[in-house]
Amino acid sequence: MRRNESLRALVRETTLDPGDLIYPLFICPGQGVRKEVSSMPGVFQLSVDEAVREAEEAAALGIGGLLLFGLPETKDPEGTGAWAENGIVQQGLRALKASAASKKLVLIADVCLCEYTSHGHCGLIVEGRDGWYVDNDPSLDLLAKTAVSLAEAGADVVAPSDMMDGRVAAIRDALDEAELDMTPILSYASKFASAFYGPFREAADSAPQFGDRRAYQMDGANLREALREIDLDLEEGADMILMKPAMPYLDVVRAARDNFEVPIGAYQVSGEYSMLQAAFAKGWLDKDRATLESLLGIRRAGADFIVTYFAKEAARLLG
Ligand SMILES: [Zn+2]
Repeated sequence: MRRNESLRALVRETTLDPGDLIYPLFICPGQGVRKEVSSMPGVFQLSVDEAVREAEEAAALGIGGLLLFGLPETKDPEGTGAWAENGIVQQGLRALKASAASKKLVLIADVCLCEYTSHGHCGLIVEGRDGWYVDNDPSLDLLAKTAVSLAEAGADVVAPSDMMDGRVAAIRDALDEAELDMTPILSYASKFASAFYGPFREAADSAPQFGDRRAYQMDGANLREALREIDLDLEEGADMILMKPAMPYLDVVRAARDNFEVPIGAYQVSGEYSMLQAAFAKGWLDKDRATLESLLGIRRAGADFIVTYFAKEAARLLG
């Protein structure tokens, strides 16, 4: 049954389609700005006008949606830029909504504070007995405010990535109260503390200025805990879940697929992308084949859709 491509196509168990792919964009201030991220070849920080151009290209390629991150002009300890009426992602959303591309793309807005806080953590920081820590509950109000502001600016879906306890419920309540009850929540339900996020922190300028995120992101050793986190987020009202990273955690994606009925996405994170790009640059891997194989593996593990920096490249290959 492997003799020729038509026979192989007939018995293929897993498919990959451009519509399964979500393309992340990093929106920055200015005009005509297109600044390549040095550790992520082919990934750019884009001003709003350039982001619209990129979105039009993504729509023409049949890509399913965009995941938006922001690089604000200034940062402060509370991360006020995250929910500012004229925040950078809010500006981007309004411009994207006004473009023809938005008819074909699902606009997903990342909800977190780390790109907007001067300390680079995902919530408010307070001093405690054992030194600094992230203050969970007061951070929830700020995250909920951020989600409402992004949905009002045009986000079709909000995607909390902070890993604070109780944030899905807080966001759901706030959205409903703002008459945004039709806005779904894509929750990063099991986000592992990972070395593979390294290049993203350059792209989103969100590296913690002290400490790390292991106190609120998950321990990579824990599969059962991941399932419990997903369960809690679904109970709180999450409509879809996002698993992150993908490649080192494909067993977690599979376990989630086997245990939950909701749509599941997986995020092929920056480190997964950058290490493949490094191997391509060295001529050690076949670029086209390895790109598609890396994505097919994630689909086979059970992900319905994949957030990937390869989205445009893969869509072109899939034709
Ligand atoms: Zn964060």
